[in-house]
Amino acid sequence: MDLYELPDFDGHEQVVFGYDASTGLRAVIAIHSTTLGPAAGGCRMWPYACTREALTDALRLSRGMSYKNAMAELPLGGGKAVILGESRRGKTPQLFQAFGRLVDSLGGRYLTAEDVGTTTTDMEWVAGVTRYVSGLSRKEGEVGGDPGPQTALGVYLGIKAAVTFQLDRDLAGLTVAVQGLGGVGRPLCRLLAADGARLKVADVRPGAAEQLRDELGAEVVPADDIVVEAADVFAPCALGAVLNRRTIPTLRARVVAGAANNQLAREEDGHALMRAGILYAPDYVINAGGIINVAHEYRGGACEARVRADIGKIPGRLTEIFERARCEERPTSVVADQMARERLTRAA
Ligand code: NAD
Repeated sequence: MDLYELPDFDGHEQVVFGYDASTGLRAVIAIHSTTLGPAAGGCRMWPYACTREALTDALRLSRGMSYKNAMAELPLGGGKAVILGESRRGKTPQLFQAFGRLVDSLGGRYLTAEDVGTTTTDMEWVAGVTRYVSGLSRKEGEVGGDPGPQTALGVYLGIKAAVTFQLDRDLAGLTVAVQGLGGVGRPLCRLLAADGARLKVADVRPGAAEQLRDELGAEVVPADDIVVEAADVFAPCALGAVLNRRTIPTLRARVVAGAANNQLAREEDGHALMRAGILYAPDYVINAGGIINVAHEYRGGACEARVRADIGKIPGRLTEIFERARCEERPTSVVADQMARERLTRAA
């Protein structure tokens, strides 16, 4: 495997492979860029089939973090860590301490936090051995903790901006299909329901959708059908590559706006969405609420109101992308990538 020849290698500054014999830790940390500041991005734990798959994920996700942090105007670069393993079975405090030592060995070039498959508790173990970690449990009145609800807030505001732009209306009476009802999808549903949106919800986890049916009156849809459900908005909040050659022709929503990272399977899929007349809210712009929260926690000194004010800038950024995309007749995903690269080049 030649790292520099991999399709997802994008001039990454550093890639570190970590192994710890006593705990069985196998982890990859990819630092895409430190141009704007220390490379920040969460740590994902996933049962990758092989190292190559884990590396590909780390390369893609870390580049996404550079773009996300640049677009969120944070003084942070882009990085990501992945731990190869099954999060429901393979976790021990010692494993996360070993991961923390790997993070610490980079001397602050990479800041970690929780992501899919990791939690605040796991990050507390990491914090026992390094200070380069965020997303820790917080005391009353402090900023920090699980970034999921803040990500949900940004996605909710972003959906409102996309709906105003594309459909020229508000959320009351509109149908939103939400795929994935975890740390982001669940609070997102509550915010949407409070605005009068009708919800269709799906999750592969038994009981997750039924809970929101009981709480919010949401319609439960089988997980395999949620993408093709009749809805005004499709909000992907599960895993990546959900927008692809197979699914895009079947989409019935006119707006796609959700939290999942790397929603487009390939760059061409952004073009396919535009040709289909579907407005796509670029994932790393709409889902920046969590990293904004993490950044404030790490820097310290901010209050909840300041975090919310910064998250409140997400809809304005999206609208700028939508307008530029319409004007230049280019996909929103392409316009967002270009804006992010421009910011990185200016900073360099
Ligand atoms: P989570 O693991 O808490 O929830 C994901 C949910 O999706 C789970 O309930 C899972 O069962 C469900 N799911 C998985 N595959 C599915 C499928 N095929 N159909 C329906 N449901 C499925 O994760 P999360 O923290 O809610 O994050 C959701 C997405 O948003 C991820 O892609 C994550 O990378 C991204 N994201 C999260 C944050 C954050 O702050 N948590 C920030 C930015 C981006």
